[in-house]
Amino acid sequence: MASVEFKEVGKSFDDVQVVRELSLDIMDGEFLVLVGPSGCGKSTTLRMLAGLETPDRGDIFIGGRCVNQVAPKDRDIGMVFQSYALYPHMTVFENMAFALKLRKESRSDIDATVGRVARMLGLEELLTRRPSQLSGGQRQRVAMGRALVREPSVFLFDEPLSNLDAALRVEMRAELSALHRQVGTTKIYVTHDQVEAMTLGDRIAVLNAGVLQQCAEPLELYERPANTFVAGFMGTPSMNFIEGIVTFEEGNAHLQNGVLRVPLAGVASSLQPGEGLTLGVRPSALRFVRATEGDFLAEVAMIEPMGWEARVHCLVRDKTIVAQVESSDVRTLRVGDSVGVKFSAECLYGFDTVGDARWWPKLP
Ligand code: ADP
Ligand code: MG
Repeated sequence: MASVEFKEVGKSFDDVQVVRELSLDIMDGEFLVLVGPSGCGKSTTLRMLAGLETPDRGDIFIGGRCVNQVAPKDRDIGMVFQSYALYPHMTVFENMAFALKLRKESRSDIDATVGRVARMLGLEELLTRRPSQLSGGQRQRVAMGRALVREPSVFLFDEPLSNLDAALRVEMRAELSALHRQVGTTKIYVTHDQVEAMTLGDRIAVLNAGVLQQCAEPLELYERPANTFVAGFMGTPSMNFIEGIVTFEEGNAHLQNGVLRVPLAGVASSLQPGEGLTLGVRPSALRFVRATEGDFLAEVAMIEPMGWEARVHCLVRDKTIVAQVESSDVRTLRVGDSVGVKFSAECLYGFDTVGDARWWPKLP
């Protein structure tokens, strides 16, 4: 097992900086998830760690050793990709044994290691099959097995579940968690899926446009996002944002945005009249009340029934706000209805005009 450190690492392709000044410490035995939208530099970061890309700037350390000049094969890394890249003409056993054969391990050692890993992954019955005779999930398991048998000091995963259907993804996610409890080797896992990130990571590093936004434990990211990007990225449906200007009336602060007025009673005492502010409110923090009783009025634009919950898209003037409510609470609601929207001020997140967090909701 080994720690991993990125120190002010930068990488450009054709004048475009795809990773900027990345500094990140990953502890020995940690499961770190690197998450962000497509194209934000996740794979490039992983490939630099594996030695498949060369950084333009900065240093990368594995187990305290700078690996900038170390060849990929000498970095002691196991990598699992989205495309399984199995050898089609080899059986499952041969695929898993391949790297060990290259290392010239003895037949009995190879049998023992492949057998143990196959048991761990539920592949024992499939060892004589070829990849074409396996389901997608089984192939992905073989790809993992192939990395596991080598017992590297760090595992890298690049969107390994993206090719699987939704149900299988959920199943494999649980298996990966269980696997990490058995094989405590340091893991760095890349995904664009924030649910995967939340459920798998000891910590999550959020990347946007090549810039690390925040690295923290899953709930910390959700409850105390550093900025509007992290706040909007973590959580489904996304947080609603309302921009406006702080106004005071008889000593009570409001956020004013045209005719929309959101009361800020008791939220932040440091607000100045006239300053710009962005409020964040999670869809789950919104409730519908009679039109006369809400904090503001909205028109129902779309209702998505999801089972026990429903997502209601509302128009507040030209802005869409999404509420996540229990289906039973909105059974009589129809598109076009005017409703009052209410939330408690304790649920509000505050951000400044450049999107950095000013305050978070008070937690119970
Ligand atoms: P992610 O994995 O987060 O989706 P990548 O790290 O693959 O993102 O890519 C980041 C950006 O760098 C993208 O805009 C991509 O097009 C670009 N890029 C990646 N690899 C290369 C390359 N070899 N040559 C030129 N541009 C590249
Ligand atoms: Mg990628």
